[in-house]
Amino acid sequence: MRLVLLGAPGAGKGTQAVFLKSHYKLSHISTGEIFRENLKDNTPLGIEAKKYMDSGELVPDAVVMKMISDRLERLSPRDGFMLDGFPRTVAQAEFLEKFLNGVNLPLDAVLYFHVPDEEIVKRLTSRLMCRSCGAISNSTNEKCPSCGGELYRRDDDNEETIRSRLKVFHDQTGQLVDFYRSRGLLKEIDAIGEPEEVFSRVLKLL
Ligand code: AMP
Repeated sequence: MRLVLLGAPGAGKGTQAVFLKSHYKLSHISTGEIFRENLKDNTPLGIEAKKYMDSGELVPDAVVMKMISDRLERLSPRDGFMLDGFPRTVAQAEFLEKFLNGVNLPLDAVLYFHVPDEEIVKRLTSRLMCRSCGAISNSTNEKCPSCGGELYRRDDDNEETIRSRLKVFHDQTGQLVDFYRSRGLLKEIDAIGEPEEVFSRVLKLL
């Protein structure tokens, strides 16, 4: 199965990706995570991306497309995958469509997770991530509930940057909803509620 996970930052894409990964044995490809890893390792890609990430803006399409094609080329054709945080612009979606059609591996579905903006701000200002396993937690935890690793707050999870990431989502990524709806791939999910509850809605749609 080949999926795209679409939704505002904090809509729960990462959490649902964990469920989908174990249920369907899919590779999880998160462009934000690849940028954060590059940043941690101080690579030229990480240093370039940081300029945009800190203010909640999108990294330029050309940089993202190069990075994602390198990553997709490493997958074997039999591997299922889900893309999380990519595409974010219509240009990226067109690029992806061309790339996947070229290898005869088109997408099966695009899952669009809906959450109102005020709920997103509430979720992200109390969100912590695990340095070891990348799991998402909340600020009442001291250690990662999955692996016991150290929890940290992402630099871009502050209210000002969250608001600009939401604006970018509505301005640019929102157009992807029409793009994928017109191709009959869009599956819309109410992403309010417990993660397990949201996942059962996902399973009903797939
Ligand atoms: P995320 O972890 O998906 O919230 O991404 C964190 C940040 O990485 C975003 O706010 C962007 O600055 C950058 N980023 C991640 N994916 C993309 C993408 N597909 N296009 C442009 N920028 C991206």
